[in-house]
Amino acid sequence: MQAGNGVDQDILDAARKAAAVAASRAVDVDIRERFPDEGQEALKQAGLLGLAVPREHGGLGANSCTASLVVEEIAAACASTGAILLTWAGPVTGLRDFGTAEQKERYLPAIAAGRCKLSFALTEEHCGSDAGAITTTAIADGDDYVLNGKKAWIGNAINADLTLVAAKTDPTARARGVSSFLIDKGTAGMAVEELYSKMGARGTKHGDLVLKDVRVPKTQLLGEPGRGLAQMLQSLDYIRLMTAAHALGIARSAYDAAVGHAKSREAFGSKLSKNQAISFLVADCATQLHASRMIMLDAAADLDAGKAIGAKAAMAKLHSSETATRIAHASVQIHGAWGLKKGNAAERAYRDARITEVWDGTSEIQKLIIAREIFGRE
Ligand SMILES: Cc1cc2nc3c(=O)[nH]c(=O)nc-3n(C[C@H](O)[C@H](O)[C@H](O)COP(=O)(O)OP(=O)(O)OC[C@H]3O[C@@H](n4cnc5c(N)ncnc54)[C@H](O)[C@@H]3O)c2cc1C
Repeated sequence: MQAGNGVDQDILDAARKAAAVAASRAVDVDIRERFPDEGQEALKQAGLLGLAVPREHGGLGANSCTASLVVEEIAAACASTGAILLTWAGPVTGLRDFGTAEQKERYLPAIAAGRCKLSFALTEEHCGSDAGAITTTAIADGDDYVLNGKKAWIGNAINADLTLVAAKTDPTARARGVSSFLIDKGTAGMAVEELYSKMGARGTKHGDLVLKDVRVPKTQLLGEPGRGLAQMLQSLDYIRLMTAAHALGIARSAYDAAVGHAKSREAFGSKLSKNQAISFLVADCATQLHASRMIMLDAAADLDAGKAIGAKAAMAKLHSSETATRIAHASVQIHGAWGLKKGNAAERAYRDARITEVWDGTSEIQKLIIAREIFGRE
């Protein structure tokens, strides 16, 4: 059923049910730094692991407006569960937009059914923003490519059935030397070497992915050789939008906690909400939250209408992530000491929010994209 902005209300209702499951485990996931298995299972049962998979391949085929609101719902419940949908976004849109008929048939129905878990491997220890500087190589050898290198900060590599890996088919070139490869779990030579402990989204599993003489048939190349980064940049508009939605969810969870506390806590004989210093702070938060959602939905509507949204997606990601950090900061303050205690929603949001200003392109990189649209590349 379609509501305003082409939002599919049935998908959103299913997301709210999955969010309730994720929310009930969020504190435990964060404190014990464990993968959100129950949240992932709830996403699977609701079909949400196939959110962006086209309907003809068994997915929900949700438009960007619906998908962004779904990601907001799940992230508001549990940032680590919401991050699963972000990890899926790159490989799914890559396969959808650049996969051969065989690749789509092999992977997309399995992804939609929740049988094929995903990972996206671009970053290396020496470079994140500057993706053209990666040094992982993929050298042609007969009917195969042989990959060598080491990736860093790779989400879900430890659980993935399929990893989309960026590697240079022309190591002498920068961005134009990068290609994308679909690598199945169990392929010889691919291993996760170290898992990191992080300040936020602590249930997600990120680590180093080592590729040592990993041999894959040429049929595992996604799209054209040397077009890997260009293809990723095309998918990145959608990914950035989902990252904005994820940050918005964290912002909302911090905001809801702040409002709840201000309504119930008393100081000097009245509720905190009656204190103008507190109520004005909450009013500012509400305004920022609303602005973030409007920027996100405007960019999503443009993407659904087939328009290029490079700068708008960057604005959405920049605004949502910085709003999340600001609101989480305010929420901790409004909670007083309780906002610093483990298990408190404001404390968790404060740590989760900070991550959103870095991953999937830092705030500075978003500003670079926006400034380029204003001033050009000269
Ligand atoms: C929790 C988490 C999960 C992640 N998951 C994945 C994943 O699943 N797969 C994956 O491939 N990667 C992943 N990443 C990596 C992430 O995309 C990079 O960390 C991010 O792009 C930034 O790169 P960097 O950390 O190398 O910082 P750098 O690029 O080294 O930047 C360092 C600082 O310099 C600034 N800077 C750099 N260049 C410029 C410039 N031209 N102008 C102005 N400022 C600049 C940056 O904004 C930043 O403040 C993840 C990261 C995190 C934190």
